[in-house]
Amino acid sequence: MITTKQIELFFRKLNKELLEFDGLQFKTRLIESICSELDSIKGKVDEQSYKRITNILSVIDRGYRNFPIDHSRLNISTAKSVLQNYKPTNIYSGIAKMIDLVWESITITIDKECPECQEEFVVVLLEPESRKTYLSCDQCPWNSERKIITHALPPTTEELSRDGFIK
Ligand SMILES: [Zn+2]
Repeated sequence: MITTKQIELFFRKLNKELLEFDGLQFKTRLIESICSELDSIKGKVDEQSYKRITNILSVIDRGYRNFPIDHSRLNISTAKSVLQNYKPTNIYSGIAKMIDLVWESITITIDKECPECQEEFVVVLLEPESRKTYLSCDQCPWNSERKIITHALPPTTEELSRDGFIK
């Protein structure tokens, strides 16, 4: 098994490695480093974390450069402060944080207020069966399909452009 401390140290190490990077370079290096770390620890974690890891790795396997990384919602200064200060309370939350950073690097938000909780932005996701894009709130359960969607995917740049979200 890996320890919470090892995950914390991984964040600190990555912080040093990425200190001088910004923009697209920061995001692509972040994705590559986290995914390679997740791949190397996936055999040493609990079953729930293992499932989450294999899910994100299979998404990234589709080719992360197909996702709209240059438009993505990851805030780089927030991400840098996470890498510098974040202390996971347990392994599961540490892994969840790693996955969140990757997920935020490959998904976009649009300027639309959530009708339920008035959050300022909503995320554009892909329904895995219909392959249609839809809007989803990060802060509450609202989504534009009005149903529970499990295993939502990040839409590719091509899918986002097909549905008019990016040009
Ligand atoms: Zn909401």
